[in-house]
Amino acid sequence: MSKPSVVVFDLGKVLLDFDYGIMTRQLEPLCRIKGTELKQVIDQSPLLHRYETGLISTPELFAEFGEKTGYMGSLEEFRGAFADIFTEIPEMVELHARLHQRGVPTFIFSNTNELAVGHVRRKFPFFANFTGYVFSHEVKAMKPMTAIYEAVEAMSGKRGSDILYIDDRKENVEAGAARGWHTVFHKEPGETRRVVEGQGILPAKGAK
Ligand SMILES: [Mg+2]
Repeated sequence: MSKPSVVVFDLGKVLLDFDYGIMTRQLEPLCRIKGTELKQVIDQSPLLHRYETGLISTPELFAEFGEKTGYMGSLEEFRGAFADIFTEIPEMVELHARLHQRGVPTFIFSNTNELAVGHVRRKFPFFANFTGYVFSHEVKAMKPMTAIYEAVEAMSGKRGSDILYIDDRKENVEAGAARGWHTVFHKEPGETRRVVEGQGILPAKGAK
């Protein structure tokens, strides 16, 4: 296979860690239901899935969340608490920065939503430094559905082994590999960095 010319990054648990427990604790004081029961309304839930597939808008999410939980806060309060759940994974942000400095086109490829993206744009400067962004709520398809992989190929103008794709979810990685993409099943930053360097797209750290 040829050397890849673009690198596609998943966002959650690759560049940013996230924790729905933080969201739960922030929303809980204004909800009728608490703890695990509250967390389950969002985390891995059908409601979040519909929101991240772009089937419902942010006001619709807010209304349905309110019905399920008795939430008494405003949409603005909800907005802040819902999205402020991310922390940077410094080694991976640095890996992206090295690719960006060398002029390698990079893309974000994420199952996500409008509130999360707005928050991440405001809070994390590195997020501005990608060539393009493919978001599930905009494409109206989530990984590992075919349509969203096609959206990456259309946006990047690349396909097959021209693409190197990093994701922490096995089913997503497998769907990329099935299209002939180079893939990294991400578990920890050091290993992923070495795989990326091994593709010849970056020199080994410390080398010229
Ligand atoms: Mg992920």
